[in-house]
Amino acid sequence: MDLKLKKIYKLLSDNKSILVTGGAGFIGGALIRRLLKETTAKIFNIDKLGYSSSLISIDQVINKLGLEGTKRYTTLKVNLANQKETEEAILEANPDLIFHLAAESHVDRSIESPRKFLESNIIGTFNILENSLIYFNNLPKNRKSNFKFLHISTDEVYGSLGKSGFFNENSNYKPMSPYSATKAASDHLVDSWFHTFGLPSLVSNCSNNYGPRQFPDKLIPTIIMNAINSKPIPIYGNGLNIRDWLFVEDHINALLLMAVKGKPGSHYCIGGGEEKSNINICKKVCNLLDDLKPHKFPYSSLIDFVDDRPGHDFRYGIDSTLIFKDLGWQPIFEFNKTIKETIIWYLKNQDWVNFIIQESGYKGERLGILN
Ligand code: NAD
Repeated sequence: MDLKLKKIYKLLSDNKSILVTGGAGFIGGALIRRLLKETTAKIFNIDKLGYSSSLISIDQVINKLGLEGTKRYTTLKVNLANQKETEEAILEANPDLIFHLAAESHVDRSIESPRKFLESNIIGTFNILENSLIYFNNLPKNRKSNFKFLHISTDEVYGSLGKSGFFNENSNYKPMSPYSATKAASDHLVDSWFHTFGLPSLVSNCSNNYGPRQFPDKLIPTIIMNAINSKPIPIYGNGLNIRDWLFVEDHINALLLMAVKGKPGSHYCIGGGEEKSNINICKKVCNLLDDLKPHKFPYSSLIDFVDDRPGHDFRYGIDSTLIFKDLGWQPIFEFNKTIKETIIWYLKNQDWVNFIIQESGYKGERLGILN
């Protein structure tokens, strides 16, 4: 895998300019840091700088790179829901490759305020597609033949599985939450821009990511933060809902491979093969914390079963055979090792957590319950 990645970095360096949307978020930030460290391409980051955004870790990489860093990286504070701003940003970035990650991404928030999800995930995707197509059609032949548009989506578009079976690229779309419905809509838009207008686009449908720098309203950071602050750790319903967990750097490897070797028009399902119930992942994190930051009582005693999420999907599971066969991708980061590293990162970076929480105005309240 390492050798293959080196080749991928080299090929990506031939791209003069790479545009990432949502690069101030959890996954987009990991992608930009990797591109800055491992390639020589120029990177443009379109982000509206919303509640879950942070540019701290990108700034740290830029500082390390010195003058080269400032020359190679630009943040464009743009809301993709705004047509004009989006058009101007694409022209400024003049990209050879686009990774589209910008989206509202939390199911509970989509139950609380669905309109924001329609604006960012559907209108935002429409705006970037429409402007990317005009831009693509005006590219000179040599740049046009290499151009790609990658749309980063989720396994949640397929709905919910029972105890058995897996999602794959042929699974029917059956989104159940406002979040997954807007992501499904954006996937369909991207596919239609490929089939109707010939935009060379690809779609990834990935399972739940974990790793450092995830906004603390998502499950794993919530468990860590509530535990170390001796607050109840909320687990929805009976805690038996199952998610397939993937370390964020494995997701980045898959996206980079898709960007270089993926066939336009394709979807790739990406999963970690690490299915865990919410209660089991919670107990695992609590047990690791007991060793890493011993406390007078076991952290698992803080677990608090609360009302279930409305329409809570029971299980997601991914069959990643196609991306393995076509692109040679498979997860390389071991779950037990990387979940521990993630916890240690949060323990050591309380300043980052406190800062991003304060900036966002989020107070740890329960979101997305029906009246
Ligand atoms: P995140 O919330 O951490 O980051 C999203 C970023 O997009 C934020 O910085 C936000 O400001 C930006 N953004 C949102 N709407 C925007 C708009 N209208 N204009 C410009 N910027 C906007 O989310 P994440 O976890 O990094 O997810 C990134 C992408 O990956 C999303 O498209 C999500 O659907 C997808 N995805 C996430 C996971 C996961 O487990 N986190 C799994 C599969 C797929």
